Amino acid sequence: KLPILFSILLVGVTVFSFWLLYRNWQKQKRLTDIKNEFISNITHELKTPIATVGVAMEALSNFNALNNPERAKEYIDISKQELSRLSLLVDKVLKLSMFENREIELQQSPVDLREITQEVISSMRLQIEKKKAVCQLEVTGNAIVKGDKMHLLSVVYNLLDNALKYSTGKPVVNVNIRADEQGVRLQVTDNGIGIPSEYTGKIFDKFFRVPHGDVHTAKGYGLGLSYVWQVVQKHGGSIEVFSKPGEGTTFSIQLPKFSA
Ligand code: ADP
Repeated sequence: KLPILFSILLVGVTVFSFWLLYRNWQKQKRLTDIKNEFISNITHELKTPIATVGVAMEALSNFNALNNPERAKEYIDISKQELSRLSLLVDKVLKLSMFENREIELQQSPVDLREITQEVISSMRLQIEKKKAVCQLEVTGNAIVKGDKMHLLSVVYNLLDNALKYSTGKPVVNVNIRADEQGVRLQVTDNGIGIPSEYTGKIFDKFFRVPHGDVHTAKGYGLGLSYVWQVVQKHGGSIEVFSKPGEGTTFSIQLPKFSA
C-alpha cells in the first residue's frame, strides 16, 4: 500500500509544481505583453511630434521668415507645442524602469518646486484647454528641495495628469505648495471621481487600477503612482492620499527641506 500512496503523492507534487511553473510563466508573459505594448505606444507617440517639428522647421527654412513674420510665428508656436509634448513623453520612458524592478537613481541638485510645477502646467496647456479645466497654483514660502529635477517634474506631471483624467465634468485642480521649517508640502486636489476607501491603500501598487466605475474610460497601466511613490521615497519624503468618491481626491507629498 505504501508504494501506491507514495506514487500518488509524487504525482500530486509533480502536477502542483507544473501548475506553479505554468502560472508563473503566464504572469511573466502578461507582463512582457504589457511592456511591449507600452514601448510600442511610446515609439508611436514619439513619431508624431518629431515629424511635426521637422515639417515646421522645413517650412521655416523654405520661405523668407522676415517677410512673413506671422507665418513664421505660427510654425514656431507649433514647434514649441510639440516640444512640450515630447518632454511629457519622457515621463513614459522614465516609468519604463518600473517594469524591470530597477531602482530609480537620482541626480540631485536644488530644485524649485514652484518653477517645475509652473513648467508642468504650461506644458499641459493643451490637455487643460481640451478638458475645459481650471488649474490653479498657490505657493507659500521658498519651495526649494534637494532632488532630481526630471523625476520631480514627472511626479508633478503624474499627479496633475491623474487629476484631469479621473474627472467627470469640468475639472478644477488646485496645487498648493507650502514650505516651512519641516520641509515642503505639495498638495494636488481635484474634484474628480474619487477613490473608494478600500482601494486607497492599493493605488501605489504596481499595475493596480481601481477595478470598477468611471476609471476605465481613462487609459492607463497602473504605473504612475507606484513610480511617484518610489521617487518620493528616494527623496526621503512621504505621500498620503485623502479621497471621497464623487467629491474628489487630494494627494499630499512631503519632501525634506533643502539644506546646502
Ligand atoms: P493609471 O492612471 O495609469 O491607471 P496610476 O498608478 O497613476 O495609474 O493610478 C492608479 C489608479 O489610482 C488609477 O487607475 C485610478 O483608479 C486611481 N487614481 C489615481 N489618481 C486618481 C485621482 N486623482 N482620482 C481618482 N482616482 C485616481
